Amino acid sequence: MAPARLATRSDYESLVDRFDTFLFDCDGVIWNGAAVVPNAPAALEMLRRRGKRLVFVTNNSAKSRRDYVAKFARLGIQASADEIFSSAYATAVYLRDVAKFDPAKKAYVVGGSGIRQELEDVGISTIGHEDTAPVSLESLHEVVPDPDVGAVICGIDYDISYRKLAHAHVNLAENRDCLFIATNDDRTLPGGKHMYPGSGALLSVLTHSTQRAPLVMGKPNPPMVECVVQSLRLDPDRSCMVGDRLDTDVLFGIRGGLRTLCVLTGVADEAAILAPGAPAASYYMASLGDLAELGG
Ligand code: PLP
Ligand code: CA
Repeated sequence: MAPARLATRSDYESLVDRFDTFLFDCDGVIWNGAAVVPNAPAALEMLRRRGKRLVFVTNNSAKSRRDYVAKFARLGIQASADEIFSSAYATAVYLRDVAKFDPAKKAYVVGGSGIRQELEDVGISTIGHEDTAPVSLESLHEVVPDPDVGAVICGIDYDISYRKLAHAHVNLAENRDCLFIATNDDRTLPGGKHMYPGSGALLSVLTHSTQRAPLVMGKPNPPMVECVVQSLRLDPDRSCMVGDRLDTDVLFGIRGGLRTLCVLTGVADEAAILAPGAPAASYYMASLGDLAELGG
């Protein structure tokens, strides 16, 4: 079925009545980088006043859930850590609960503090290389597999370096038991006016050099779907995923058996939403902020 455009107050009322739980992608729906989407906080508040359950699902592994709580607060939105599912958190939960990661081992992180904090919070020690010392072929002789490394975790890393990639590579290439996990594989990262390489692009260095395929946690992949749907015991028929991207958010919702709402404040435009063969959103509307007109 073609996605239904929601544009009137009565469309919005029916949407809100139809669901008990709304899952929100963050960037492109609630904010764009540091800027809040106009009226999105009021729309979320309206949903809370009407007793809806709100869940926030982001592929961005740069921040921990604690950082996200602070970001929501700064934007005037009330949200608690247990409502937030980031790809970094899903990675930590997966390692602890599904992979039963040996607590005596360490995770080598190609990524930032968001990943390290989430892993440490579930009791997994992390290592990485932050130094910026020059690299030469001779200095690479010090880069050897570490028997204590049980997993290499790859996410967005704004300080990616050859040294880090070399450490990750030798652990993965020379120890087939070392787990290879990517927080997400977004091809691009929305940077306001321009798109930049996403963590999936950084990941491609390691998939190419090691010829290994990582387990990818983030939307639209099954581990994130399972992490959210199972830990919240969602009733898929009464839950709606709201996103701005068809290849991550809408596909994530479809795979989780949820209805989906695509907004036009981020990556997808109307032509992309209506294009034949695109992941089919159930609904689309201009902006989450438009729901604020429902008031109480
Ligand atoms: N990954 C990174 C590093 C980002 O900066 C962003 C958006 O800013 C994303 C992923 C996508 O985040 P979301 O899933 O909230 O749209
Ligand atoms: Ca998004």
